[in-house]
Amino acid sequence: MEIIDGKALSQKVKDEVKAEVEKLTAKGLREPMLACIIIEGNSASEIYVANKQKACKACGIESVVVRLKNDVSQEDLLKQIDKLNRNKEVSGILLQLPLPKHLNEDEAINRIDRHKDVDCLTRENLGAMFSSHQTIVPCTASGIIRMLKENKIDIVGKRAVVVGRSLLVGRSVAALLMQENATVTVCHRHTQNLDKVTKEADILVVAIGNAKFITKKFIKKGAVVIDVGINRTENGICGDVDFENVKSLCKFITPVPGGVGPMTVACLMENTLILHKNYHL
Ligand code: NAD
Repeated sequence: MEIIDGKALSQKVKDEVKAEVEKLTAKGLREPMLACIIIEGNSASEIYVANKQKACKACGIESVVVRLKNDVSQEDLLKQIDKLNRNKEVSGILLQLPLPKHLNEDEAINRIDRHKDVDCLTRENLGAMFSSHQTIVPCTASGIIRMLKENKIDIVGKRAVVVGRSLLVGRSVAALLMQENATVTVCHRHTQNLDKVTKEADILVVAIGNAKFITKKFIKKGAVVIDVGINRTENGICGDVDFENVKSLCKFITPVPGGVGPMTVACLMENTLILHKNYHL
């Protein structure tokens, strides 16, 4: 069993981004700028945005945070997005999700200029990815593929099972695994006999938001298990996989924390740089 070190790999990705940014500034070009919009009142979102700012600093990427009150109207949120869309200094816009219930998330996401959509969540950018014409892909999915490749894990022809079908994670990672020529099955809340399906997986990706849900009975011996879940429990943060219970069965497994999470942030830095170089220089 080998534990995939997402922290170490994320450092490598951030170092690569930093080196690229330095090359740009050495040529007298602008560094990228990431703008995060956060709606106050969600403590997890505050932590995520603070981590993203820290990563920007480490990579030489400028960052600005636009803070909006918890009762902000849809109209005012859209105005802020429009303002950032028009701002020529801004290379990427990230709308920290989830939004409070009174706001229309789909409309807000799709208001972001696709050339600044660092999370790759607009319909245009998702459409590009699902038709294999992407410039960038969603950060978590990108981080997962990078983890597999860096660890020289074969994807071609392998049986991959993704549990969870959100656009942000499950569906995106499934699309990328398919592009990498895996045979992919996507499972969700309505899947019957889930354990029978996951037990066929050479590569199992779990993104459901249910603490330690995946136990031994879901895993084939020798599987590669990627745990995307971030669950806050009385005993701290844990994933969707019961790490201690399943690890002896796995060829590779990602820990939580220290696995997919840091890779997501590093890939956000990479996406910001890619959009900057492609559309904003
Ligand atoms: P979501 O709630 O949008 O989607 C969850 C999906 O899981 C749904 O498709 C649902 O059908 C499926 N699901 C839920 N319970 C299930 C069950 N018992 N059996 C089968 N399918 C089930 O969530 P999301 O945004 O995709 O996030 C999933 C988890 O990943 C959360 O814990 C979230 O915090 C975490 N996450 C982590 C990162 C990271 O960087 N590590 C990034 C994004 C999300």
